[in-house]
Amino acid sequence: HAKKSPHQHFKFYTPEMNSLALENMTLESKLRLALRQGKLELRYQPQMEIQTGNIIGMEALLRWHDSEFGWVEPCKIIALAEDRGLIEQIFEWVLHTACSQIQLWQKSGLSLVPVAVNVSPIQLNQSGFAQIIINALKETELDPGSLELEITESAVMHNPEFIIEVLSQLKGMGVQLSVDDFGTGFSSLSYLARLPIHKLKIAEPFVRDVITSNEAATIISAIVSLSKKLKLRVIAEGVETAAQLAFLRESGCDEIQGYYLSHPLSAEEYASFVKNKK
Ligand code: C2E
Ligand code: MG
Ligand code: MG
Ligand code: MG
Repeated sequence: HAKKSPHQHFKFYTPEMNSLALENMTLESKLRLALRQGKLELRYQPQMEIQTGNIIGMEALLRWHDSEFGWVEPCKIIALAEDRGLIEQIFEWVLHTACSQIQLWQKSGLSLVPVAVNVSPIQLNQSGFAQIIINALKETELDPGSLELEITESAVMHNPEFIIEVLSQLKGMGVQLSVDDFGTGFSSLSYLARLPIHKLKIAEPFVRDVITSNEAATIISAIVSLSKKLKLRVIAEGVETAAQLAFLRESGCDEIQGYYLSHPLSAEEYASFVKNKK
């Protein structure tokens, strides 16, 4: 290790940090441009009820392809958007696009299942949140029951009383609510019991390890029985193999989402997926 320099507290300006900051600046302006030019995309990942094999829902997932950076990872886009004050615009775009797509599919009789949209914790804690949802439903003339919102445990912990009120309002309208990546945050179980939600989504890491790790298997079983006790539906994310599906069926899990069923699909791909299923 080099001797501590007197300028150590200016460590931020190392060449590496500089290029990272530069990259983020470029990425930010490119993201703003992509948003303006309609270059963002959505993929739709189907969800299946284990007992019946029916497709019972789908999750809308953000995609962005940039000529220079290629496909930018969704978590990177979201982190940047949260940091640079773009998250609200992105959320509204995702919400409108997903709601309009579902409305189109419903009108053509292609698919009647709700679409789930991911909600950033920052978003959920802003005061106009419920109104954004109400507006999107009005503008797309979508039945509130066809929209599901995925929130995270961390979003709730920040300001539980406020969040419970907002979620109650949305649930009262008929909007579906689920807790994403369940098991990875630090939920207070007493708040969980009070949350007006419909569904828990078991986080992908537990599902990934369920066959090889007793711990993961125990956690999944515990989440499933917690869901039953709280009268919530439970879905496993990231299901990739028949063995994982078998474990989940055995444990009493209601639904799955994952590559085993389907990758996230473009709107055209989703349409043919549904037609082939019939
Ligand atoms: P998430 O909401 O938990 O979404 C599930 C992620 O798991 C997606 O990653 C999906 O492509 C991936 N996945 C699906 N099936 C499998 C599987 O069988 N195995 C594995 N290993 N992964 C699978 P993706 O699309 O890269 O998104 C990552 C995260 O970025 C999402 O996690 C969500 O937190 C966030 N995100 C994506 N789109 C949006 C959005 O529109 N708004 C917000 N706020 N966040 C979003
Ligand atoms: Mg999600
Ligand atoms: Mg997530
Ligand atoms: Mg998840």
